[in-house]
Amino acid sequence: MKSKRQVAVEQLEAVITALRCPICQSALEVTETGATCPHRHTIDVAKQGYLHLAGTVTKSRYTKELFIARQTLLKETKFFEPLIDEIVKWIREEVTEPSLRIVDMGCGEGTHLSGIVRQLPGSHGIGIDLAKDGVQLATNHGADVLWLVADLAKSPLQDHSIDIVLNILSPANHTEFRRVLTPSGYVIKVIPNARYLQELRSFFYAGTEKETFENEEAGERFASELEVVGISQVTYTKNLTEKQWRDLIAMTPLTWNAPADQVDAFIERGESEVTIDLTVLIGRVKEK
Ligand SMILES: [Zn+2]
Repeated sequence: MKSKRQVAVEQLEAVITALRCPICQSALEVTETGATCPHRHTIDVAKQGYLHLAGTVTKSRYTKELFIARQTLLKETKFFEPLIDEIVKWIREEVTEPSLRIVDMGCGEGTHLSGIVRQLPGSHGIGIDLAKDGVQLATNHGADVLWLVADLAKSPLQDHSIDIVLNILSPANHTEFRRVLTPSGYVIKVIPNARYLQELRSFFYAGTEKETFENEEAGERFASELEVVGISQVTYTKNLTEKQWRDLIAMTPLTWNAPADQVDAFIERGESEVTIDLTVLIGRVKEK
């Protein structure tokens, strides 16, 4: 069986022309242990199967335990499966190139990107996040994806080398998206709608402005930066066990500071279904 490091070197070979040196921005070449640039900046593949391309890693609110809980919950409940399927369906119908380079800017523990790439044979993914614990876990997915710990604002990607940028439930950096996309490339952005996690909102935020989610601003910003070529709504529910509710509460920014007695009070209500209510926005670079 191949080691995680060997697998990562193979993934690196598949997308090497889309990468650049994080220090001097020169093109990279694959070596036996990782990659190097003409100025001899070398990057080794970590034994866990990812590349570390960021200078300093900031402390994330997400601990390793939280990432593990998240990955487990998403897998057990197929939490985002209808969303992933919607994105894959759109790509299959609208994008004709057979072999796509798909980047997830803010990949976390990798569930979204690996789920999408697995359904698009011949395509390659690049997952980028500054949270090392998340990227380490992402290597467990075993999809055609290269996982990178790197800065999203100064990503180690070549100009105009990427076909699709995924930006799922995380902040956008449109300047960087435009820089890395090919002229015919797309941004697929997912934003939460008013009823996203409404069971948590209505309990923990009753009577406050956080009781419903406002996504207008993100949507307007998207439309001002890109030509919007697709919008779809994805709304469904999932059944959760008590353990899964507790994990969801712990991993959701909305509720992760909630006091323990409030969390217990919520669990005692015996809520079974959680609502997932999202908008998928698809945009392409505006012609100048
Ligand atoms: Zn260099």
